[in-house]
Amino acid sequence: SQWYLPETGIYHSKHPSVNLPANDSLLDVVSFIFSHKHNGRTALVDSLSGYSISYPQLFPLVQSVASGLRHHFGISQGDAVLLLLPNSIYLPVIFLALLYLGAIVIPMNPLLSVSEIKKQVTLCKTKISLAFTIYENVDKLRSWGTTPVIAVPENLINDFKEGRFSDFHKLITGKFDLVERPVIRQQDTAAILNSSGTTGASKGAVLTHGNFIAAVELFVRFEASQYEYLSSEAVFLAVLPMFHIYGLSLFTLGLLSLGASVVVMRRFEASEMLKVIDKYGVTHFPVVPPILMALTKAAKGLCGNSLKSLKQVSSGAAPANSKIIEDFVGAFPHVDFIQGYGMTESTAVGTRGFNTKKFSKYFSVGLLAPNMQAKVVDWVNGCFLPPGSTGELWLRGPGTMKEYINNADATMSTIDKEGWLHTGDIAYFDEDGYLYIVDRLKEVIKYNGYQISPADLETVLICHPEILDVAVTGAMDRVLGEIPVAFVVRRDGSTLTEAAVIDYIAQRVAPYKKVRRVVFTKSIPKSAAGKVLRRELRKFLTSKL
Ligand code: AMP
Repeated sequence: SQWYLPETGIYHSKHPSVNLPANDSLLDVVSFIFSHKHNGRTALVDSLSGYSISYPQLFPLVQSVASGLRHHFGISQGDAVLLLLPNSIYLPVIFLALLYLGAIVIPMNPLLSVSEIKKQVTLCKTKISLAFTIYENVDKLRSWGTTPVIAVPENLINDFKEGRFSDFHKLITGKFDLVERPVIRQQDTAAILNSSGTTGASKGAVLTHGNFIAAVELFVRFEASQYEYLSSEAVFLAVLPMFHIYGLSLFTLGLLSLGASVVVMRRFEASEMLKVIDKYGVTHFPVVPPILMALTKAAKGLCGNSLKSLKQVSSGAAPANSKIIEDFVGAFPHVDFIQGYGMTESTAVGTRGFNTKKFSKYFSVGLLAPNMQAKVVDWVNGCFLPPGSTGELWLRGPGTMKEYINNADATMSTIDKEGWLHTGDIAYFDEDGYLYIVDRLKEVIKYNGYQISPADLETVLICHPEILDVAVTGAMDRVLGEIPVAFVVRRDGSTLTEAAVIDYIAQRVAPYKKVRRVVFTKSIPKSAAGKVLRRELRKFLTSKL
C-alpha cells in the first residue's frame, strides 16, 4: 500500500483525507451543533454541584459573555486575555466568547507562581487586556499591573453568590446588547500556549483558528465518523486540564462540536472520580498514565455495576509503560483502550489508537490522523528511515503551529523550510503503520503529563548563592512518569543540603515543577560547545536504579 513511500521517506496517513473547510471560521465549525442540532442535551456539567449548561443555552451564553466582555472590559479583536483557571464549566464558555471576539487567549496553569506567569507574559511581548483567574490569584495578578482581573468561582454552590465574584456573575447573568462577530481569518491567532519545545526555556506556541479547526476535524470529528459509539450520546469526563492543548481542543471545542456531554471535574481525586463516572454514566475518559493506574487500582475493590458505563479510555500526554497498560486492559476487558499522541506545537493532532477486529495494539500510539504526514529520521546522519527503524519523528500537517512567539530561532529549528515539525520524540512505525514512541531526544520532563522545562528550573537554581553550576533532568518514576532531579555543583565551603535545595526551588515554582531529588556532583558533563549533556545525566540516574 501507499502509506509509506521509500523514495521520499514520507509516511502518509492510512485514513482517507478529510476536506477541511477553507473559509469557515472556527466558531462556525464548532457552533453549528450547539446552535441547531442539540435536542436539548447537556453540554457541560459540573461534577460536584451538578450545575449544567445545556446545548440550547450554550451559544446564547457565549454571545452574551462576548458582548459583556466588549461593553464592560472593552475586549476586541487581537486583544490578549489570560486564562489562569482550573477546569470549570465556565472555562469553555469564556474561551468560546473570546474566540467570538477574535481575542487571543493565553491559557496557563493557575498554580504557576507570579514570576512564572510574568515570565510567560513577557515572552509574548503583548499587553494583557484582561485576566480570568481563581480568587487566590487575584491579588497576585493585580500587584504587578493595571490589568483588570475577573475572579471565577471554583465552588459553584458556595462561591457563586459572593460579592468577590460580582464581575463574573454580571458577565454570566447580565443582559447585554449583542455585538457582531468580526471577520476572523483562519490564519489569525486564537491562542498562545506555553511549551518548552525541544530545548531551552519555555516558549509561547502560537496556534491559529485554522490550527484548531484541524484539531476539531481531524482528531474529534473524524473519530466520530469511525467509531459509532463516539456520538452525541457520549459522556466524557474532563479531568485533564483545559489549559493544556489536549483538554483545550477536546473539551472546549471538539466535543461541543459533536454535541457530546462533558462532565467537568475541577481536579483529579481518585475516589471522587469513581463516584462521578457512575453518577453521570461516563462513557469516554481521556487520561494520563497515572490516572490509568488509579483506575486499575480502583477496579480491584469494585462490586456490581461500578464503572460499567465506560466504553473507551484513551491515554496520552506522556508515555504509559506496558505494565500499566496490561494491568488496565486486564482489569477492564469491556473497555476499548487506546493511546493518542500529539503535542502543543501540533495542536494535539498526531496519532490516535485504532482498535479493529484484526489489531489491538495497545502499546502503540496508533495511526497518523487524516491529512498528516510523518518522517522518521536518523538524528546522527539525517537519513529517512523505513518501518521498523527508530529515529526522530517529524510531523507535517494542518495542526502545526504558526511559530513560537518572538522567537524566530526556536521556530526555525523546530519547523524546517518544508514545514516538518521536529518533535524531539524517538519513534518507529511498525509494518502496519502503527506508531510507537520509545524515547525522547528533547529535554522536556513530563511529570504527570505536565511539561517541565529543565532550563526554567536551572535559571532559578543558579541564582542560589551557594550553587556554582546546575543541570536538571528527569528520572523515571513508576507512578508519575518522570520527576525532576537537579545535579548541583556547590561552591567551595558550602554545606548546602538536598532538603535546602528542594525547599529553595519549591518556594519559587508551581508545585508540580518541584525538584524532587538532588545529586551533588563535582562538575556537570558538557559538550565542547558548553551544552549540558543531559543524556549522560539520565544514563547516570538509570545506572543507579
Ligand atoms: P505537550 O506539548 O505538553 O502535549 O507534550 C507533547 C509531548 O508529550 C510529546 O512530544 C511527547 O514527548 C509526549 N507525549 C504525548 N503523548 C504521548 C504518548 N502517548 N506517549 C508517549 N509520549 C507522549
